[in-house]
Amino acid sequence: MGKVGVGLAVGCAAAACLIAAVVVGRRVRRRRTWKRAVVVLEELDQGCGAEVGRLRQVVDAMAVEMHAGLASEGGSKLKMLLTFVDSFLNGSEKGTYYALDLGSTNFRVLRVQLGGNSSALLEHEVERKPIPQHLMTSTSEDLFDFIASSLNEFVEKEGDPELSSVKRRELGFTFSFPVKQTSVSSGILIKWTKGFSIENLVGKDVSECLEQAMSKRGLDMRVAALVNDTVGTLALGHYHDEDTVAAVIIGTGTNACYLERADAIIKSQGLLTTSGGMVINMEWGNFWSTHLPRTSYDVDLDADSPNPNDQSFEKMISGMYLGDIVRRVILRMSQESDVFGPVSSRLSVPFILRTPLMVAMHEDDSPDLREVARILNDVLEIPDVPLKVRKLVVNVCDVVTRRAARLAAAGIVGILKKIGRDGSGGVTSARIKTGSQSKIRRTVVAIEGGLYTSYSMFREYLNEAVAEILGEEVSPHVILKVTEDGSGIGAALVAASNSSPSVDSVQLL
Ligand code: ADP
Ligand code: MG
Repeated sequence: MGKVGVGLAVGCAAAACLIAAVVVGRRVRRRRTWKRAVVVLEELDQGCGAEVGRLRQVVDAMAVEMHAGLASEGGSKLKMLLTFVDSFLNGSEKGTYYALDLGSTNFRVLRVQLGGNSSALLEHEVERKPIPQHLMTSTSEDLFDFIASSLNEFVEKEGDPELSSVKRRELGFTFSFPVKQTSVSSGILIKWTKGFSIENLVGKDVSECLEQAMSKRGLDMRVAALVNDTVGTLALGHYHDEDTVAAVIIGTGTNACYLERADAIIKSQGLLTTSGGMVINMEWGNFWSTHLPRTSYDVDLDADSPNPNDQSFEKMISGMYLGDIVRRVILRMSQESDVFGPVSSRLSVPFILRTPLMVAMHEDDSPDLREVARILNDVLEIPDVPLKVRKLVVNVCDVVTRRAARLAAAGIVGILKKIGRDGSGGVTSARIKTGSQSKIRRTVVAIEGGLYTSYSMFREYLNEAVAEILGEEVSPHVILKVTEDGSGIGAALVAASNSSPSVDSVQLL
């Protein structure tokens, strides 16, 4: 071999080595960046840890905060608002009642016919419409005029001459914003949430404003009940099953209410109710405890929100936020590794990954996770994601959902603990005596909201955690029951029980 030949051979060998080194280097780097993405998932999983020991701490903290919120105004981040609802219908009533439901994704107008048999399906009609965006930040007059005119149209469509001859209609108003209740049918708006911001209504009586708007439209209706959506849900739950003691909503937001003994409401000493009990609206979305498993994603989401340090529990649980937590984790993975290719600018857009999209990825059961790929591509503009990375995304959805569902479960058991139905006072406190024997009392919690009703993994995680915390002996006696349209129908039921002295109602406790 001549000099040239030797030089060529050496050159080729060197080039081959270089190519090999580059390939190996790339592989190592790829493995390293894959590892980094996995570490992000592992850290998330650790940070979201909601094992049963931790959940029991949350249960205790919830019960303690409930006590504190009942002891004094401002005594806890839980507002524990009085509702003045102290009795429910017993199911034998008849008549037609109306309801409005404001504060959900859609505004609803309802008519409910009570047939005199609570186990039979109530006849009801619902009309849903979105609130036009501009009215959410307009004036109180504009908003209530829209509501009154929708109600007017609904009433005018009544074909039944018997209904048209009804003199004065009774209305239940579900208004799912924090309200300081002054009676069962009136209350003052404390603050707006959920994107509403109409300053001239804050501090005013909500029912009075609605009644003014109705009378301007010539509508002869009386607001017989002003309730929160959870109270409506409890009323419907109780109508069907009188062992119902609490109601929880897990939809866009989350909240709960429950039946409390009047003498346990220390901040309103001397409160007299006919039944000796009262429904308390917890506003539990604002619950806070150092035992909550909080991650840097929660801290960032809170800091970027219009209401920092507010609604911390809700921000870990409800439909408004879960998708955005997942987006933040994917963004971190994308920044710290190259598993998603170059960082997509869409990943920095807040709330671009809405919870139903996150749910669709989590529930994708196709072998190649086609839906995950589609959403990553179409919504987040991340194309060509390999299967193992899609699996990573599904895992992120799972960790975030599992924590949310298990925390909501701990909240529910917290309520049961507060009212002595969790079996923690020895199982005895949850028992009732029947003759010489005693048995564990049946306890029902009404649940409503898209996350629980439409997201089966969420529902399963929540049910499983409630059973895990309560243990084998007590959990078969605690039933979580879905109600439908309870937030609206229930308002009509509360209106009915407060409309006429001739209507019988049952004791709460
Ligand atoms: P709202 O809370 O507004 O009264 P819903 O109880 O119907 O209304 O809950 C709607 C919320 O539930 C949405 O904001 C969304 O986050 C969530 N959601 C809607 N569809 C689904 C779904 N298929 N699976 C899980 N969550 C859903
Ligand atoms: Mg709702």
